[in-house]
Amino acid sequence: MDRPVRVRFAPSPTGFLHVGGLRTALYNFLFARHHRGKFVLRIEDTDRSRYVEGATENLIRTLKIMGLQYDEGPDVGGEYGPYLQSQRLELYRQHAQQLVESGHAYYCFCTPAELEAMRKRQEAAKQPIMYDGTCRRLTAEEVQKRLKQGKPYVVRLKMPREGETRFSDLIRGDVAFQNELIDDQILLKSDGYPTYHLANVIDDHYMEISHVIRGEEWLPSVPKHLQLYKAFGWEPPQMAHLPLLLNPDRSKLSKRQGDVAVEDFLEKGYLPEALINFVALLGWNPGTDQEIFSLQELIEKFSLERVNKSGAVFDLNKLNWMNGHYIRELPEEKRVAFLTPFLKKAGYDVSDPEKTRKVIAAIYKRIERGIDVKEQAAIFYQDHLEIREPEAREILQKESARTVLRTFLQKIAPLHELDVQTFSQVMKEVQRETGFKKQDLWMPIRVALTGVTHGPDLPLVIEILGKAKIESFVRQVLSAEN
Ligand code: GLU
Repeated sequence: MDRPVRVRFAPSPTGFLHVGGLRTALYNFLFARHHRGKFVLRIEDTDRSRYVEGATENLIRTLKIMGLQYDEGPDVGGEYGPYLQSQRLELYRQHAQQLVESGHAYYCFCTPAELEAMRKRQEAAKQPIMYDGTCRRLTAEEVQKRLKQGKPYVVRLKMPREGETRFSDLIRGDVAFQNELIDDQILLKSDGYPTYHLANVIDDHYMEISHVIRGEEWLPSVPKHLQLYKAFGWEPPQMAHLPLLLNPDRSKLSKRQGDVAVEDFLEKGYLPEALINFVALLGWNPGTDQEIFSLQELIEKFSLERVNKSGAVFDLNKLNWMNGHYIRELPEEKRVAFLTPFLKKAGYDVSDPEKTRKVIAAIYKRIERGIDVKEQAAIFYQDHLEIREPEAREILQKESARTVLRTFLQKIAPLHELDVQTFSQVMKEVQRETGFKKQDLWMPIRVALTGVTHGPDLPLVIEILGKAKIESFVRQVLSAEN
C-alpha cells in the first residue's frame, strides 16, 4: 500500500440510511481503522431533484449512534473540505470546462424532446438506449453559435468508441467493459450542477482517497470514472465493489420485503452493536465459525480479501437471534435503560422503577427486540385476567385444575404477603393435599396468573404481581362459568 489510507463514505442525502449504506460505511470505517488511515464523510448532495430536507442531519445522527466516527466530514471539518458537494460547485464547473478545452468532453445542446425522440427511435430499432453523439460531431463554429444564442447545454464525456476499459477490482478481480457500450455520460447538467460521476471523481482525487469501497451497483460507473481520471491525468484510487444485499428469495434487498432503514431497526429495538455485528458479516467472512464480534475485534480482523463476490442474503432471523444475544449480554443497568422506553411506548406504567426492573429481569431472555416487550410484559400489567390462548382456557376447564386453584386460594388467604419462599411452601402443601404434581399442579397456577401457558419462571411472576392481584385473578378464574 503506497499511499496513506484515506477512504470515504459518500452518501447522497435522499432520506434515510439504508442498511446497504450502513455496510458501506462500516467497511470503510473498519478498513481505515485497521490500516490506521482516515475515514471521511462526504455528502453527495448535487442532485437537487432528490434532495430531502433534514436528510444530511439524519445521516450524521445515525452514523454517530452506530459508533462510526469519521475523521473528516461536514460537521467535524478537516483539511480537504468542504465536505458537502453543494459547496464545491465552482471546482466542478472549472473542471468540466477544462475537459471541454482538452477535447475530453463536449457541449450538448439536445433538448429533452430531442432526447426522447432519440430514445424512441433506438427502442424501435432495438438498439441500445444511449446518446447517439449528435453534438459530439458539431464543429467549433456551430458550438460557438449555439452558445452565443444562449442555448441551454450540458457537458458530456467523450467516451472512446472502441477498445475496452479494464481494471482490477480488489474484490471482483479483473473487470473489462467494452467502451462502445458506454454512454457519453453527462458531467455537468444544464442547471450548472455536476452529475455524480464528475463530482465523485474530482472529490476522490482532491480528497486524496486511496481506496473506493462501495456497493456493486456502482461498478458500471467505473469505466466512465477511469476515463475521467485519464483525461485529467490523475492516478485513480484502488477500487473495491461490495456484493449486493439480497432478500432470502435472492431478489435485491428492497423496502417491499421489510425494513431497510437503519432508523427503523433502531426504532424497533435493535441495538447498534448487534446491527454492526450483523452487517459486518453481510459479505465479509472471518474465516472461522465465530459470529459475535465487537467493533474492536472487527477492526482487528477485517480485510477486503475476505469479502465475497457473491450476493449476501439479509437473514432477518439471524439478526433477531443476534440482537437477542446482545440484549442478554447487556449489564442489567444498561438493559433496563434500553428496554424501559419500549415498555413505556407499549403503554405500560413504568413509574415504579423497582417493578420495571423486575419485569425486565423476568422477560429479557425471551425477547429479541425492544418492541417484543409489549407482548412479553403484557401479563404483568393487566388489571383483569385475560385468557389469551384456547389451550389456556381448556386447562382451566378441567376439574383437576379447579381443585388445585381452590386449594391454592385457601392456602394463601391467611398470608399477609406472597413472596418466593411462601409461594414455594404453599405449592408443596397444595401438592400434598390434592395429590397433583408437575404439569397438573403448576400449569393451572401459571394460566390463572398470566392467562397463557408459557412465560417467565413462576416465582418471578409471583413477586411482580403481588398477593392482591394473584388472589383476584384466581377468584376470577374460579367464578367463571365452565
Ligand atoms: N453518492 C453515491 C451514493 O449515494 C456514492 C457512490 C460512491 O461511493 O461512489 O452511494
